[in-house]
Amino acid sequence: MKIKYTNFTEGVHDFDFQEPVEKFNLGKEFFGNLNLNCKMDKSLHQIVLNCNSEVKAHFTCDRCSEDFDTVINTQYLMTYMFSRELRETDELNLRYITLDTDTLDLDEDAKEFILISKPMKIVCKDDCKGLCPKCGKNLNIEKCNCSIEIINDVWAPLEKLRNKLNN
Ligand SMILES: [Zn+2]
Ligand SMILES: [Zn+2]
Repeated sequence: MKIKYTNFTEGVHDFDFQEPVEKFNLGKEFFGNLNLNCKMDKSLHQIVLNCNSEVKAHFTCDRCSEDFDTVINTQYLMTYMFSRELRETDELNLRYITLDTDTLDLDEDAKEFILISKPMKIVCKDDCKGLCPKCGKNLNIEKCNCSIEIINDVWAPLEKLRNKLNN
């Protein structure tokens, strides 16, 4: 996914890309096409890209262990500053480009922002009830008859100590 920005006038231009997700090494849970839409705002000293990506993923729920498909939408801004010499920056949304670079390569940035958007905790739905800790039934599908006492392990040793002292 590349934009040869030198071909475009100053102002806003719209780009749509669609590429098979395998090209980006995002991980085996991603499938189908990666769709990327970018609005490029080109001016004299900089280019600002406002991008939206959409990619499908196949996950296993951390709570109920069921497999499910979902769509990950990612929105990011990237600023490319024209610079005399090539400069490094730690900022996630900033790149310096020299005037002998005539093309913006979007692959690595799109990939990075998609991976950042991937949720840390993967749940099939916000109110997923998970599995019964006693019998292992999926509580989204059926109820079980287990009575679940809440045992707080943090207090267990104290409880023991107190029992000892009382005896
Ligand atoms: Zn779930
Ligand atoms: Zn149960």
